[in-house]
Amino acid sequence: MQTPTASLQLKPGRDKPVHNHHPWVFSGAVGRLHGDPQPGDLVAITDEHGHALATATFNPRSQIVARILSWDPAEPIDDAFWGRRLERAIAARAALGLSADDALISPAPLLPRSPAPASPTTAYRLVNAESDGLPGLVVDRYGDTLVMQCLTLGIDRRKTMLAEQLAGLLRPAGILERSDVDVRGKEGLRLLVEPRHGQPPPPEMTIHENGHAFLVDVWRGHKTGFYLDQRDNRAAVGRPVLLAGREVLNVFAYTGAFGVYAAAAGAARITQVDSSAPALEAAERNMALNGFDRPDDELIAGDAFEVLRYYRETGRQFDVVVLDPPKFAHNQGQVERACRGYKDLNWLALRLLRPGGLLATFSCSGLVSADLFQKVVFGAAVDAGRDVQIVQPLGQAADHPVLLSFPESAYLKGLLGRVW
Ligand code: SAH
Repeated sequence: MQTPTASLQLKPGRDKPVHNHHPWVFSGAVGRLHGDPQPGDLVAITDEHGHALATATFNPRSQIVARILSWDPAEPIDDAFWGRRLERAIAARAALGLSADDALISPAPLLPRSPAPASPTTAYRLVNAESDGLPGLVVDRYGDTLVMQCLTLGIDRRKTMLAEQLAGLLRPAGILERSDVDVRGKEGLRLLVEPRHGQPPPPEMTIHENGHAFLVDVWRGHKTGFYLDQRDNRAAVGRPVLLAGREVLNVFAYTGAFGVYAAAAGAARITQVDSSAPALEAAERNMALNGFDRPDDELIAGDAFEVLRYYRETGRQFDVVVLDPPKFAHNQGQVERACRGYKDLNWLALRLLRPGGLLATFSCSGLVSADLFQKVVFGAAVDAGRDVQIVQPLGQAADHPVLLSFPESAYLKGLLGRVW
């Protein structure tokens, strides 16, 4: 069905977010349901008078009862609609220079099969869900492989068609569905990882980012395999002018991406900390993959808080500290505790920096705003007795765009600070 046969009538005065192009309709805003839509079906969103405002997918199991696809109630949500949205998202990445080596729209060349790509970046986000007008759909490119994540029922029901359209547009070697994300539970969906098209990807592949090579496991790696959202921040921090000859501490290193940039920028010594030993093993292999043989570097498997405390107690100092912790706040109730965690961490890091050193600090908790995060780091600086200049505000990479009408899409924030 390409046009809705049912409608959600909003309560009086609850239509403003829809007029403002916010893509979510919460169950509390709905006055009446007309018709008998099945979960995942299209519904019209109407104002209190029954006047159609938008077309959405419906999921009665979720607090977000509808996800708006189009604010033109007359626009059919047919295969051509989905194709237009996908093409628009793909073209926006090409316009960022992220796909210079491949004309992405068929019938032109395929995704490159060669291990030595012309483009310095072969892994990036092609579709960023709501921000690309495709609520619940994430598509990342890793070389000749696409990884899709279906976060909502509306997308899950259409994923075969979407995978076919992606295959037609980009002709990848394979498409893997990595729908092993907890939020699917809120949509009544189970977690799964399954090949959707073409060849199943290999257990490990090599991607390039700004000319650096990284090993990625798209089956089991974090997110869809790699923290693509940190690309621009790695480039901002990983500059020779900032790092050459410096002693760098990379905390929450995962597979050592910031570490590889630091090595390339001529850092004197790099210490990488992560609680995951396998991640650090990959970090070591990523260094070797880029031709770095650095016997003085350290890989420390352990709890970041404990390691930082140990360094403080033993008087260890660094010139640069990168802090990229996992998400601390998963819901509103966790925000306060998360902020205490960020403050402790930043306090510890600030204590380890030599005067004039650099702190690159991040939070990927969407519920902690950039403003709040800056206040938390300020609190840590006051307690640590350090003055911090913001050299550069940091955020999610350009292929993870933020939709103005959907500020929830801004989740990664950071600061590059010089510490006196
Ligand atoms: N900076 C990385 C991404 C970091 S993701 C990059 O650019 O790719 C967060 C990392 O923190 C994960 O690798 C996870 O294993 C690690 N982690 C989570 N809790 C931790 C803890 N308490 N101490 C140390 N590492 C931790």
